[in-house]
Amino acid sequence: MKLDLHEIASHLGKRIHSDIDEPPIEDAESGVKCVKPVTGEITFNNTGKHIVARGHFETTIEIECSRCLKPYTIDLSMPIEEELQIPGHTIEVLEEQELPEDEKEPLFVDYVLDLTELLRQNISVAVPIKTLCSEECKGLCPHCGKDLNQGPCGCPPDAEESAFSALASLLEEEENKLES
Ligand SMILES: [Zn+2]
Ligand SMILES: [Zn+2]
Repeated sequence: MKLDLHEIASHLGKRIHSDIDEPPIEDAESGVKCVKPVTGEITFNNTGKHIVARGHFETTIEIECSRCLKPYTIDLSMPIEEELQIPGHTIEVLEEQELPEDEKEPLFVDYVLDLTELLRQNISVAVPIKTLCSEECKGLCPHCGKDLNQGPCGCPPDAEESAFSALASLLEEEENKLES
């Protein structure tokens, strides 16, 4: 959703309120995959140089467990706090300013706010780096690939150990190579 903020941008002290109701946002690049609409509310307040946006939103995102590769969902409930520079006051600053890395699209162009992009940025910072479907996730067997959360696989019980020792001797070889 795009919001036209012309009206508020030209009236100091003006405040408007808007409900958020976005269809599920998906963006593979930033790992954002909502499985529910994004709902909430946002208030814009013209403070002179900025339009201050404050509010909150809720959604549910789907992520993949880094151990067992199963998708699982987490509920998000997040605050929104954003300062949008009103063009005209700070044109030069805006031109010199480099966009932060996670900001692949400018949010606020010609007094129009890209609310979907603002929400995507907020959600992307909430995606955990280390994803685990549960603290106790057993992951996949390194040999047969079976999901060990569903029970043990048929691999010999010492398989894991020998895999580790094989890895260890490989590492040792590498080290020896580096030393010689
Ligand atoms: Zn898992
Ligand atoms: Zn196995």
